[in-house]
Amino acid sequence: MLIRYGTDKFGRPVKKAVVYTKNEHNIPKEKIDFDAILIINRLKDAGFHSYIVGGAVRDLIVGNTPKDFDIVTDATPSKIKRLFRNSRIIGKRFRIVHVVFGQKIFEVSTFRSNADGSSVGNEFGTIDEDVLRRDFTINALYYDPIQEQVVDYVGGMRDIKKHVLRPVIPLDRIFTDDPVRMLRAIKYSAKTDAKISFSLRHKIRANASLLSQISPSRLTEELLKILNSGCAAEIVGEALDTDLYMALQPAATAMMYADKKFESSYMQNLVKLDELIKNSPDARLGQKLVFIIKDFIISLTDWKKESECHTAYGELYTKTWTECRNFVLPMNPQRTELEFAVKAVLTELGIHGKIVQRRKKGRSKQEKN
Ligand code: ATP
Ligand code: MG
Repeated sequence: MLIRYGTDKFGRPVKKAVVYTKNEHNIPKEKIDFDAILIINRLKDAGFHSYIVGGAVRDLIVGNTPKDFDIVTDATPSKIKRLFRNSRIIGKRFRIVHVVFGQKIFEVSTFRSNADGSSVGNEFGTIDEDVLRRDFTINALYYDPIQEQVVDYVGGMRDIKKHVLRPVIPLDRIFTDDPVRMLRAIKYSAKTDAKISFSLRHKIRANASLLSQISPSRLTEELLKILNSGCAAEIVGEALDTDLYMALQPAATAMMYADKKFESSYMQNLVKLDELIKNSPDARLGQKLVFIIKDFIISLTDWKKESECHTAYGELYTKTWTECRNFVLPMNPQRTELEFAVKAVLTELGIHGKIVQRRKKGRSKQEKN
């Protein structure tokens, strides 16, 4: 273990960070994306500092394979852009750079600081400042894949090992500055098997209603991450316990509060969803949505009778689809995926058929002939 020193305002040396070497962090280098290493190498060759940061480092330490690699550096966006022909600057308020390799996009950001007074961090800064705007210690580790060192300013490595979820941003601001952090808290607690302390849980419950201010697109993004996490049952259980699920899926939450049987079946379906993610991680979204809407569709009518009544399939399907679209609000999944899910559940319930497309009026002469 090495110590990184800085200086205080009087110029005296002060301990800033702990640096873990290869044998201490045990990150297998072969799990690092080759192109991420290439980006870091090029930034370093140009004289900049650069690290992999956040979720990828956390995942590597707990033994998971990261989905993506976020990179930070002290180079400004225009300097990053100049180093990579395959890159573009994005963002208005805070500019970051996307470096593109085929299907893969790497987000390369410049260190940011909280100098503007919020914990969102919208000004360029140093690594010491950048660390302070990250939500939890386990998400605030910096990994240098060339030297194979993990730089830890906040005790994140110890917290990962001890299974503790500890905020970096002060408790009185973390959730009021950005309520989505409450969802992130329960997600990472489940993903890394980390305990949420009594005071953190209390803060989440007290601020749960703030989630209603968040845009549907951001809530959709978070909910989809939860459904794809492979531990959706555990996260949704926590979200119900902390009153967060009311903002993510209000209709389902209300039905679960009202009906214990519905709740237990909904939760069992989430366990099945987690199995699907483990066995077929590339399953399409529609297959996953099946587990969210199944109990709701079952509750809509007596399906056995419906199948005996020979109601037109198109009519049944359209009604069910509309109900489901409202049921999953504020989540707004791709239309084709929700259609896929509704059809799959109807088929399971023995309702089959084809949707007959009505011809549009006023066909052209050519069409009529
Ligand atoms: P995953 O992508 O697996 O959900 P992640 O930790 O990589 O997890 P991202 O949303 O990709 O999450 O964010 C990357 C990093 O940026 C985080 O690890 C964290 O350090 C920081 N971060 C992201 N969102 C926030 C936020 N709302 N508040 C504070 N820090 C954040
Ligand atoms: Mg990430």
